[in-house]
Amino acid sequence: MSFQGHGMDSTLAHLILRNCKIAYAITDDALTVVEVGGEGGILCDDHEVCLGQSLPDLVPELVGLEEVLADILGGDLPRFELAWANRETVDGQTIYLTMVDLPHRDQTGRTAGILHIAQDVTEMGMVDRQLAQNRNELRLLQDQLTRQNLELAAANAELRRLDELKSAFVSVAAHELRTPLAPIRGYVEVLLDEDVGSLTDEQREYLQTVERSAHRLLTLTSDLLDVTRIEAERLDLVLQPSDLSALVKAVADEYGPQLEGRAQQLTLRIPSDLPPALCDETRAAQIVGNLLSNASKYTPRGGWIVVTVAPAEEDGFLEVSVADNGVGIPVADQPRLFDRFFRAQSAVLTGASGAGLGLPITRSLVELHGGRIWFESELSKGSTFSVTFPVADEPALTPIESTRSTEI
Ligand code: ADP
Repeated sequence: MSFQGHGMDSTLAHLILRNCKIAYAITDDALTVVEVGGEGGILCDDHEVCLGQSLPDLVPELVGLEEVLADILGGDLPRFELAWANRETVDGQTIYLTMVDLPHRDQTGRTAGILHIAQDVTEMGMVDRQLAQNRNELRLLQDQLTRQNLELAAANAELRRLDELKSAFVSVAAHELRTPLAPIRGYVEVLLDEDVGSLTDEQREYLQTVERSAHRLLTLTSDLLDVTRIEAERLDLVLQPSDLSALVKAVADEYGPQLEGRAQQLTLRIPSDLPPALCDETRAAQIVGNLLSNASKYTPRGGWIVVTVAPAEEDGFLEVSVADNGVGIPVADQPRLFDRFFRAQSAVLTGASGAGLGLPITRSLVELHGGRIWFESELSKGSTFSVTFPVADEPALTPIESTRSTEI
């Protein structure tokens, strides 16, 4: 072959042909093979034997394509290619060949025959096939993923629908339960006031039980309504600068009878010159009330409760904390304390009633104000719950030096 004519060393040429698994055959203008070279076993096992054969005899794929070969010889076709021809090797393997036929020119540039090149592309084919297979598998996985995403989206939509349905049901049920509570509580009050006749001690006791149960039912329905409002993001605050100290005192007064009934001592530590807090007064009272009510519920008779209002460590916030020396919360239960319907073991053991909705609602309300809620507790020693409210006029937080203690 004329590699040397182009300046390439023949050993190098053969090395390349071997490595690329290429064999070639050169014919004269009568298609008789005059030279064979390159990788053995592709065109024929013994190159010597191939010499003198007709090219179509050597390459059966060319049988019937004599016209094409004639066009190449005649200069009408510059190149002819056959892809994926296959051969059975002596050891029974199938190999795949790509074949190219080109005009073979002599030194004068005249087409003297045909240069037939065959390359074993089995390995490339395998890589190609593997790639195609991987691509197909990937496409399959993508399809699967798309399908699963669609299913997930549908399941999510259904869950949302069911959740909305549940919220609507809870909301309607809570409203319906509340309506008859108003006359029940009203008439019990009339009876207890003895407006329609005097009561025996037994009758009074029974009516007080009815009153307490009605109050519990009212609290529960309010909590359920709050939960559905919070879930639906329909709980709007009416924020205004408020005197947090006065608000805490008012809540403490409201709970006074309950604490007295349990012989609990309440201490208020409220400095006199706190800046106003930015809060919704009804909701802020609900927050403090929930903490105070829990402190009382989960502190045995005769225990103490301390409510402190002070500037928070965090700039621009006021902190209200409610400490008690009650039953405390086991460490294992503490991470779940703000979960809906969760009640710690220590609370259940007291026999105090509750649905486990107060703290999650309190947390949502505090966070709606932009504040934080946290607690510290030790089993059988007591708990301290703290919340923060933003200060209404941010710049002026005067340092407080003296604390006034109010006891009720
Ligand atoms: P509940 O209706 O049970 O009082 P809450 O949501 O208000 O529900 O409180 C959740 C749980 O947190 C209570 O059941 C109780 O286990 C615990 N807890 C709240 N406050 C206190 C407290 N001051 N002392 C001990 N445990 C408390």
